[in-house]
Amino acid sequence: MDPDLLAAARAAEGFMPDDEGLALHDAGLVGGRVGPLLEVGTYCGKSAVYLGAAARAAGSVCFTVDHHRGSEENQAGWAHHDPRIVDPRTGRIDTLGWFRRTIEAAGLEDAVVGVIGDSPTVARYWRTPLGLCFIDGGHAEAVARADYEAWSPWVAPGGLLVFHDVFEDPAAGGQAPFRVWRTAVAEGFVPVSTTGSLRVLRCPEAGRARP
Ligand code: SAH
Ligand code: MG
Repeated sequence: MDPDLLAAARAAEGFMPDDEGLALHDAGLVGGRVGPLLEVGTYCGKSAVYLGAAARAAGSVCFTVDHHRGSEENQAGWAHHDPRIVDPRTGRIDTLGWFRRTIEAAGLEDAVVGVIGDSPTVARYWRTPLGLCFIDGGHAEAVARADYEAWSPWVAPGGLLVFHDVFEDPAAGGQAPFRVWRTAVAEGFVPVSTTGSLRVLRCPEAGRARP
């Protein structure tokens, strides 16, 4: 990965360890040859720097979808709450400005396209086959499953589906992403690699039925 972009990714706010970010970047290089990359769950843009660097290297782009209001686990009183991301005007989470500054500082505004909105709503109108889809939005079971259902049909044959925060051991973390990952495997996505909690799968040749 480009050293300046790696430094920008490391400096960005967020919860993506470096080894997982580099594995995501490598997946992005592969997926970027198949089609555009799409991330569900932008937060402050840290993982989008790893993916944006890959998109640029592959001559592609990375879309990143978030309503920027935080997941359940980001709200006050939950494990991943950071008071700095609360808008003092409204008391609500607002990570949009953080994302914008992260991508600006990385110099990736040409490679990373922010999409502001609810993930299944955006997916309902999406029609472009993807080289890679990275699912890292809300980790409540219904939310994670809705993201998988909405976006996995758009992964092109030969493209990659990537999940974050997959923990087999309940002591290590929430089980919803693991259960959704198991569904993906049962539905034909082929495990390619695991790095920490990041799991990469290859789309079956037939793909999934599209709406
Ligand atoms: N991928 C980021 C972290 C994402 S955190 C990184 O590694 O740097 C999860 C994000 O998912 C939060 O910012 C939250 O706002 C977003 N999110 C949760 N549910 C969503 C939904 N239904 N639609 C859009 N974004 C959602
Ligand atoms: Mg994550």
